Amino acid sequence: MPNEFKLITDYFDRPNRVFRKDVLRGIGDDCAVVRVPANKQLAVSIDTLVAGVHFPENTPASDIGHKALAVNLSDLAAAGAAPCWVTLALTLPEFNTSWLKAFSAHFFALAKKFNVQLIGGDTTHGPLSVTIQAHGLVPKNKIISRSGAKPGDLIYVTNTVGNAGLALMCLQNKMSIPTKDRALMLQHLNRPMPRVKEGLLLRRFVSAMIDVSDGLAADLSHILEQSGVGAVLQVEDVPLSAVLKKSLPKKKAREMALGSGDDYELCFTVPVGKRAVMEKVMRANKVKVSCVGEIVRGKGLRLVLRDGKKFLLGKKGYLHF
Ligand code: ADP
Ligand code: MG
Repeated sequence: MPNEFKLITDYFDRPNRVFRKDVLRGIGDDCAVVRVPANKQLAVSIDTLVAGVHFPENTPASDIGHKALAVNLSDLAAAGAAPCWVTLALTLPEFNTSWLKAFSAHFFALAKKFNVQLIGGDTTHGPLSVTIQAHGLVPKNKIISRSGAKPGDLIYVTNTVGNAGLALMCLQNKMSIPTKDRALMLQHLNRPMPRVKEGLLLRRFVSAMIDVSDGLAADLSHILEQSGVGAVLQVEDVPLSAVLKKSLPKKKAREMALGSGDDYELCFTVPVGKRAVMEKVMRANKVKVSCVGEIVRGKGLRLVLRDGKKFLLGKKGYLHF
């Protein structure tokens, strides 16, 4: 591989258009140094995307650049933290300038959108893998966890779920839908928008929150386990996109919405007393949220239909490939 330093300069240092005042030292030294305000705490999260495991080998570099950052910002959003700085560990099979150009362009486009600065990283030669560590700030003791849900709290989800799962099915040629719909669904899978604004707005209302990466049923179950509670989820209330609704029979669409992952929406619980003002604030900020159920005493997730019948979902969800 040509000079690793030139690669870093050309693709990660020079095009780095986000400069934050709280970065005392960025790319180029042994360590990056940032300033953490005295009234804030640092929230840290890391995620790795491996080619062939987390995305198909032939995924465009532009999508990888976007998604690798998006999934990390999504974790900060779920904790109610404001994203600030990231580090990037890249393992590349070859020095491919057009790949690097597309990867870094889309990485930095998303970074800029959320005022996030790349402050360092590591570059190595090997099978394609992207690891990003994201750092965010949250007011002292205001971090949102998965463990705060209480019986009686209402369960909500942002926007719609199941679109990324539908896109994956299309990619695997398990179904075909109109080109325009397919493009829209692929956008959900490959260019998810981390719900950063939403996470910050929700921070003062929620008792627990998680981002939907494994599927609504699986991720809500994480909240339940860590909070020591159970839940009843009204399957008909789970928000589905127009495309998902018209592409699959009702039951399959619901299975997709509950069982497939990669949507990066936020699932959260709200004490009943905060419900009205939360919904008002979200409406004022044009954020769609849907109430999908209630936290109850006990254990486990019960999926029910309006007629009182149980909804059956495969153990691991419909679409865990
Ligand atoms: P060291 O040998 O001290 O680990 P490196 O040669 O790995 O240093 O990196 C040199 C500088 O470039 C460091 O500041 C490091 O943080 C940064 N860097 C390396 N790879 C990347 C990358 N992919 N993205 C951003 N910064 C990087
Ligand atoms: Mg290094």
